[in-house]
Amino acid sequence: MTIRTAAETCAQPKDSLDVIAAGLFRPMGVDGVYARTAIYEEVIERLACLISRQREPATEILRFPPVMSRRQLEKSGYLKSFPNLLGCVCALHGTEDEIRSAADRSETDGDWTASLAPADLVLSPAACYPVYPLAATRGPVPSDGLRFDVACDCFRREPSRHLDRLQSFRMREYVCIGSPSQVTSFREQWIKRAQRLAKELRLPHRIALASDPFFGRTGQVMAVSQLQQSLKFELLVPVRSEEEPTACMSFNYHLDHFGQVWGMRDEAGGIVHTGCIAFGMDRLAVALFCEHGLDVRRWPATVRATLSFG
Ligand code: ATP
Ligand code: ZN
Ligand code: MG
Repeated sequence: MTIRTAAETCAQPKDSLDVIAAGLFRPMGVDGVYARTAIYEEVIERLACLISRQREPATEILRFPPVMSRRQLEKSGYLKSFPNLLGCVCALHGTEDEIRSAADRSETDGDWTASLAPADLVLSPAACYPVYPLAATRGPVPSDGLRFDVACDCFRREPSRHLDRLQSFRMREYVCIGSPSQVTSFREQWIKRAQRLAKELRLPHRIALASDPFFGRTGQVMAVSQLQQSLKFELLVPVRSEEEPTACMSFNYHLDHFGQVWGMRDEAGGIVHTGCIAFGMDRLAVALFCEHGLDVRRWPATVRATLSFG
């Protein structure tokens, strides 16, 4: 199995890394894309319920498919920031003869992919992108702001043999749309709640200022500006090592970026601000198994209670 690396460096694993990797995942022939075992999925589901129990009142729940409008993602500015991570849906277009001859090349020279053309879909790289254009169709943002609970399977083209860096992974987010003070207090509240949750799950953790891995040289400037404005915090857990801790949750303030892009305004006509809290569901589950071992029956009683294990 190619997913050995992470377990070897897990923080004091109760089980060997091989046992943990084999207990959680089955290979599917590509690094960072795995079939998941029943016990792993059970922990994912219990984590999802735990996160649902923290939901603020008046939060609208939406579950998105793993694909979204290519146009919407382009308009969101994703290609400026992370063009290297994006996966685009491509398909064979044309007449029956054209499609047949392209498909048949898979059996001859194998080059059928040269005939692929992009469709109007991309693989969603984060759960919250589709919510802003959707909210923008609702008219002025009410004075209390808007709250959403969203989730989807995400794709990022970052193949890795580490258990905590997948190409296909689950993201859950709480999103706030409103005034700058509403968004910043939403984020502050969530940073506190997240620390409490990590404590209840007995995951060693710390909150740190962070920047996104923006692409290329201009990306470095964007990262510095993001740090200077304290726009991103992460909850870090030493899954693989103390030196390179894993971001299991992130707390993001987008200022008025999405408000501007989608023309989202408050009742007085001002552009609104947005922020999101992202839970890396797979990273949280992997962190729990690395910290407490593969046998969930032997997890600390308080952790089991927090996850409502019977
Ligand atoms: P990193 O710095 O580790 O690449 P990120 O800054 O790209 O993380 P975000 O864009 O904030 O992460 O994504 C929200 C959450 O989704 C992260 O906090 C993390 O828990 C999860 N996540 C991001 N990338 C991956 C991945 N490749 N595999 C598994 N989970 C991921
Ligand atoms: Zn988000
Ligand atoms: Mg990343």
